[in-house]
Amino acid sequence: MRMFQVCVCGQPLQCNEAPTPEPKGTEVLLKTLAAGVCHSDLHLADGYFDLGGGKKMSLADRGMKLPVTLGHENVGEVVALGPQAKSANLGVKIGDRVLADPWIGCGTCAACLRGDDNLCRSMRSLGVFSNGGYATHILVPHAKYLFAIGDLPPERAAPLACSGVTTYGALKKVPTLASEPAVIIGAGGLGLMCLALHQKMGGHSAIVVDVDPVKREAAKKAGAAHVVDGGAPDATQQIMKLTKEGAGAWAVIDLVGSSASARVGYDSLIKGGKYVIVGLYGGDLTVSLPPIPMRALTIQGSYVGSQHEMKELMELVRAKGLPDVPVATAPLDDVNKVMDRLRAGKIVGRVVLTPAA
Ligand SMILES: [Zn+2]
Ligand SMILES: [Zn+2]
Repeated sequence: MRMFQVCVCGQPLQCNEAPTPEPKGTEVLLKTLAAGVCHSDLHLADGYFDLGGGKKMSLADRGMKLPVTLGHENVGEVVALGPQAKSANLGVKIGDRVLADPWIGCGTCAACLRGDDNLCRSMRSLGVFSNGGYATHILVPHAKYLFAIGDLPPERAAPLACSGVTTYGALKKVPTLASEPAVIIGAGGLGLMCLALHQKMGGHSAIVVDVDPVKREAAKKAGAAHVVDGGAPDATQQIMKLTKEGAGAWAVIDLVGSSASARVGYDSLIKGGKYVIVGLYGGDLTVSLPPIPMRALTIQGSYVGSQHEMKELMELVRAKGLPDVPVATAPLDDVNKVMDRLRAGKIVGRVVLTPAA
């Protein structure tokens, strides 16, 4: 098999070859049909997250071991089953086309037993802590992480594994989804996915914030009720003016997660409002404490999604169709070029690699 791996942090991914693995135990081997290139792959390749104030969170300290094959938005075709995956009635067979839930926990802790693998303290996520889909093949530890995609196009289904479930998980944290406008900060791949799912989940309306006019235009086309330039000095005032009675937002979903976006997002809240932070751009936020209780504000983090949320998302897609997010495909060998374009902010929607093409 061929795979593109982080061998040295900060360097381009390296193409390596290895014997194609034979699945053991409950493992399932997939031939990769589609692997989405996600913004967080840039951080994984760099080897750290920016914590603000000159501090960094090293991924090596969090358990990432090199070399590792990136790629956590994967669809594949089942090509081999481990002995237990075959014997147990797990519902996958050779030839099935499946989405792999990459957010895999240890499988034995309390969080994993609840199905909250995304809250496990020793995650084995595909494309982060174990080899992912920038490769001709992917080994998945258990069939329970596989979801049949039926006749959905693999390149359109793949982004559900990260950008889909991440925004679904964030939207589920908003109790006022159907009754109040939601503010979505960031109109890149994640933002357009969030906007599309917001509509499918019966969201009231969306105010989308981005510093890039091209991305704001894309959000407008995708159905945003309003767009705001997040870089404008009065961005907060503009957002508040667009909410009911100009009083502020009940919910802000920040898909950027920078010092600047957090400032705008948090400052736009109404009394009782909720700021949900998803993006991992990096930075920090200083807030005064008394207004948090006095204005009953909530600051909540949201990390990818649980097994339940992945299942619900697949059911939503089955019932209401795929989120209409612009998707372009590229050959596996172009992965470094695609990542450079993503780093330069030149990609609208998602680029998905097609290793089997
Ligand atoms: Zn991702
Ligand atoms: Zn666990």
